[in-house]
Amino acid sequence: VSGPGAEAGTVVVLAVGEELLLGDGVNTNLAWLGAQAAAVGLRVVGAEEVGDGVTEIVAALRRCAARADAVVVTGGLGPTSDDRTREALAAFAGVGLVRDADELSRILGWFAARGRTAPPAVATQADALVGARLLTNPLGTAPGLAVEVAGTLVVALPGVPAELAALWHADVADLLVRRAGHPAPLLTRQVRVVGRGESDVAHRLAGVEAALPPQVQLAYLASPSEVRVRLTGRDPAVLAALLDEVAAVLGDAVAARDGQSLPEAVVAALAGRGLTVACAESLTGGALAAALVDVAGASGVLRGGVVAYSLDAKARLLGVDPALLAATGGVDPEVAVAMARGAAAALGADIGVATTGVAGPDPVGEHPVGEVHVAVAGPGTHLSSQALRLVGDRALVRAVTTTRALDLLRRALLAPPA
Ligand code: ATP
Ligand code: MG
Repeated sequence: VSGPGAEAGTVVVLAVGEELLLGDGVNTNLAWLGAQAAAVGLRVVGAEEVGDGVTEIVAALRRCAARADAVVVTGGLGPTSDDRTREALAAFAGVGLVRDADELSRILGWFAARGRTAPPAVATQADALVGARLLTNPLGTAPGLAVEVAGTLVVALPGVPAELAALWHADVADLLVRRAGHPAPLLTRQVRVVGRGESDVAHRLAGVEAALPPQVQLAYLASPSEVRVRLTGRDPAVLAALLDEVAAVLGDAVAARDGQSLPEAVVAALAGRGLTVACAESLTGGALAAALVDVAGASGVLRGGVVAYSLDAKARLLGVDPALLAATGGVDPEVAVAMARGAAAALGADIGVATTGVAGPDPVGEHPVGEVHVAVAGPGTHLSSQALRLVGDRALVRAVTTTRALDLLRRALLAPPA
């Protein structure tokens, strides 16, 4: 039934709730528990979601207990007819339930303190498995339960995220950490790579991967805008050295490290060089400026932005040559450079950054959806520009354009000051 001999510090999460299977709720408890577990050195080695039926929950408990040293169950501890975790735990452990007098008076007191009459069903929440420890819930009425079943520790926690967190911090983390013999925290380091595909990044890191120490895991987390290369392990010095190695191999493709976002890296680079920037945006419609404004300290480096969507606006507000606009239709590398230059001049910034292109869903003349031009220029200088062929729907093309424009700016700032 259980996993005696399962590796110390391993945890499986079992989320109970029909709503999770119906797509009516998202299992954020799993994500939260995964991060919390790693921070205290525990490893979530698997997870399951199951509906509200006792038979299903018991079967899931058997599977989960066979896989790890501890199982953390979330949800189904409330007083309603769909809350069956307690009953399922009793069936799984093969023990009865006993009403805990102290817990019952605490629950009744909770209602009394709020001037409410306790419905009869709440009393079931004071039912503990024989041999289990009740974990008092400081935020609600449903206590958690911790019970040893044939070599596996099973901890059941309420589904409400705030209550789960309160119980985790009050008792559960400590319980699991002591059981696991105080493991060193699982640490995560990462770099963000913009402008290279996942397989390209992996190809370049083949050598690093081949020489990876066994205690370190390397993972590639790809999204349309970036690829994160993540290292996980327990030795901070080993991880730091490996991260430097990864960064050295990837060179200027590394946009940021660890928790730093690309816009934060750009704001830091601008501030570091004492430069200001202005945005000229067509298809991104202000998203580029908004990404920079999101960063605390943006006011020191961002002068402003112009959303110039029509050809007319590009000419009037950014000074782009009407003849060039008429000839190109606006989706053009030269137009992007002129927009960047125009924004820098109009807003008195050292550098302008511009986006123009076709977000879709329809092509513009001979320009296909996803043809995008980004440029970085000073009032009188052209620093760099890039033609992109992006794949995706309108929202994706606009989002990736924002990232790529920021990355072009970041790369331009790597060059030694003129
Ligand atoms: P309660 O005493 O509030 O009934 P409970 O332990 O019975 O607590 P559930 O009834 O399963 O918990 O869930 C209560 C609420 O908690 C759900 O409506 C949902 O909003 C949230 N919840 C449950 N499970 C999860 C989960 N895995 N991730 C995120 N939220 C969850
Ligand atoms: Mg409930």
